[in-house]
Amino acid sequence: MALDEEKNYTLDDSDEKKDDYENVCYVCHRTESTAGKMVQVAPGLHICPDCLQKTFDSVANMGFGMDSINSLFGGKVSSPAENVTDGEDDTKDDEKNVTNHIPNISFLNLSDLAGFGGIPNSQRIKKKKKKDEKKEPPVIDIKNIPPPHEIKAKLDEHVVGQDYAKKVMSVAVFNHYKRVIQSENLLDDDDGVEIEKSNMLMIGPTGSGKTYMVKTLARLLDVPLAITDATSLTEAGYIGDDIESVVSKLLAAADNDVERAEKGIIFIDEIDKLAKKKNAHQRDVSGESVQQGMLKLLEGAEVEVPVGASSKNAMVPMAAIDTKNILFICGGAFPELSDIIKERLNKSSSMGFVADLKDKYDNEENILARTTAEDLRKFGMIPEFIGRLPVVFSLETLSEDMLVRILTEPKNAILKQYQKLLRYDEVNLEFEEGALRAIASLAKEKELGARALRSIIEEFMLDIMYEIPKDENIGTVIITEDYILKKGGPKIIPREIGVIANRQKVAEN
Ligand code: ADP
Repeated sequence: MALDEEKNYTLDDSDEKKDDYENVCYVCHRTESTAGKMVQVAPGLHICPDCLQKTFDSVANMGFGMDSINSLFGGKVSSPAENVTDGEDDTKDDEKNVTNHIPNISFLNLSDLAGFGGIPNSQRIKKKKKKDEKKEPPVIDIKNIPPPHEIKAKLDEHVVGQDYAKKVMSVAVFNHYKRVIQSENLLDDDDGVEIEKSNMLMIGPTGSGKTYMVKTLARLLDVPLAITDATSLTEAGYIGDDIESVVSKLLAAADNDVERAEKGIIFIDEIDKLAKKKNAHQRDVSGESVQQGMLKLLEGAEVEVPVGASSKNAMVPMAAIDTKNILFICGGAFPELSDIIKERLNKSSSMGFVADLKDKYDNEENILARTTAEDLRKFGMIPEFIGRLPVVFSLETLSEDMLVRILTEPKNAILKQYQKLLRYDEVNLEFEEGALRAIASLAKEKELGARALRSIIEEFMLDIMYEIPKDENIGTVIITEDYILKKGGPKIIPREIGVIANRQKVAEN
């Protein structure tokens, strides 16, 4: 009979992988690794020893005996002395329960809750994986981190230009994971030297590839990545996301695997929007206060984050995550920073015997490369915050040449994507050199960096993608400079006669 009862609770297919997840206490929402071995009160429904004890205590205080508790858990809980019972005793117990039941007081039957499926997987933490589990090897193995020049070579395959940024990033990542491995293996050298985290601050105009570089890096390293916009963050207690929600996002990106999340990367974009507001008379809950709140995360702290939700509440289980090995990368365009740098440089160069022209630096292209901590402080970042991002570097504004290369060179270049699309229709797509330059120059005018390329090409390719499937005889399309400059059309070359005949034959068959 007991077996039949069990069958009724059989959970659906989506729950078949539940064994991979840690059990969560239904009452306090702590996980098994935090609260201790759970007691299963119904299939899919667990209670931690603390909550169970509290229930016993409170019921005992109300003056009920063990029988009442039995009725509370649907007759499933028994005191240790009663553990060995046979079927006959069960029926007797049931009778007793009925007689002991107090009129007008009905206890919640926890086994009914299991009908709702208990706590969903999206809010549960995965059990720590066994070491011997096989997985596809990542391009760069963080356990055996290759030297910086090899990391940069991998980045080169995807990211055009930005050599300095790639170099700085490769070294920072190399040092970071070396430090992680060191702390994991507990290689105590006992020399008291503790390597600090190499969190990064990327400064670069919009569309220069900040997010793209971080995404590429995380993919190559096969570590989870969480991307957040600093503008959505506010001090705890105000409308907006808590600062700790960034860690929660990382946990979700790691499939609720705490161990994996603790070695991940968090990218906080638009960090310049957190600058201290000038002449602010109110509390700056979304600017300076967020910088303050992020200090402990950047440095490394144990934080309790909600699992499977962005805000803490009583219904969401919590997980403890240590941020000491999480690599934080902050990025921003810092629009007025170049003026601050120019002012500083012009001031210092126009003084003394070797004085230069007052506006010597006004037209310098990559002035952001000369950023100092003092400039960032003037911009509105607090010194403690800057201090926790020791690796500061800038990305170049993309030149026309770089835009042309971005169109064609990366593994996943936009042109390669369109060529592949048309190849499905057995049509070749080619671009004249002049056309590429014209696209790059249009993109440069928009001042949106490489992001403008896609929208420009999309516009020109629309007609081509629409017309080509209409005509079976088209073999090659050449995008000309005139087409981009709206002075002419693309060149269309028909298929060779033999190919057309072949295609017709195949179609007839
Ligand atoms: P942002 O600096 O504003 O974060 P993104 O990283 O989002 O800019 O860049 C937008 C797109 O431009 C990316 O998806 C990528 O395809 C392309 N891109 C930008 N810079 C480069 C680059 N140096 N090499 C290759 N592609 C790039």
